[in-house]
Amino acid sequence: MDTKVYYIDNDAVINEAAYLIKKGETVVFPTETVYGLGANALDEKACEKIFMAKGRPQDNPLIVHVDNKDISKFVKSIPENVKILIDRFWPGPLTIILEKKDIIPDSITGGLKSVAIRMPESTIARKLIKASGVPIAAPSANLSGKPSPTTIDHCIRDLSGRVSMIIGGVECRCGLESTVVEAGETSVTILRPGEVTKEMIEDLGIKVDIDPTIMESLGDVVPKSPGMKYKHYAPDSDMTIVTGDLNKVIDYINNEAKKIALEGKRVGIIATNETLGEYHNGTVLSIGSRGNLNEVASKLFDVLREFDKIGVDYILSEGFIDEGVGLAIMNRLKKAAGHKVIKL
Ligand code: AMP
Ligand code: MG
Repeated sequence: MDTKVYYIDNDAVINEAAYLIKKGETVVFPTETVYGLGANALDEKACEKIFMAKGRPQDNPLIVHVDNKDISKFVKSIPENVKILIDRFWPGPLTIILEKKDIIPDSITGGLKSVAIRMPESTIARKLIKASGVPIAAPSANLSGKPSPTTIDHCIRDLSGRVSMIIGGVECRCGLESTVVEAGETSVTILRPGEVTKEMIEDLGIKVDIDPTIMESLGDVVPKSPGMKYKHYAPDSDMTIVTGDLNKVIDYINNEAKKIALEGKRVGIIATNETLGEYHNGTVLSIGSRGNLNEVASKLFDVLREFDKIGVDYILSEGFIDEGVGLAIMNRLKKAAGHKVIKL
């Protein structure tokens, strides 16, 4: 298939993209989290094309993107908790799971009775939804299993020839996928951590639980969010995260990197601005400043993809605290590393 690519996102481009969405085709577009691979959420055939293009398992449900806080057309009821969340965090990087109405096809929810729904902050995304006149189902615009795309070039590399159009030249502000919550009457459960943190939701007086599968390898426990059970964010090379006292982490990584280099293998190190100069072997990339975890979040997938481009055999990464947005950073790093973590 020919893929039209526009590095701009003016109204003419958005209208052309909206025309394709209305016709049942697929369009890749930027959001504030990561780039999305979109199709008309009410059109099963169109959404099938999303699963095909990504190689996504059919039981991994899609997030429905809307341009309006009124979602009563799509979900059966909206608990008080959810009204508060919508008021505070929409438009923004928070996805809410609610019982779906029949208008949402079963095939996009992986057969579940619930639907994941979000109003993005990105004006391009919202303009596209508005111009299309339909909600847009859009998972991250990467091949299944690969790191999510935060630039148009990431999308082109994964999906050129597999979708009808790719638009947008902007980098994604958050760089990590949205926080996903399942909402109960009296509390919410975070199924996937993101920029909207546990602490931010608790500040609204809402009780927050965290799905236990977020931080540990799964074992026999099945995560509530079907997508969380699949291999995710994986760079081409093996990866290990090293956590603990920062000086010890630096020493450990230096020793391991030396051993790997002596074996004639190529090693990549994920460092931070503060530690960049401390490493003596391999290719060292900074993921941002330890003092600015939002910066680390926004660079994470780009750094993983950069190591794929450079071509290394092994990646050693520094770890981060798992509080605030650090919880989302460590969740993605641990998945990328297949949960190989050295605690010092
Ligand atoms: P992505 O679209 O790639 O950002 O992935 C969407 C995430 O939301 C996946 O982890 C899905 O499993 C999760 N998700 C979507 N719909 C539901 C749902 N109805 N119930 C639980 N998790 C969901
Ligand atoms: Mg994804």
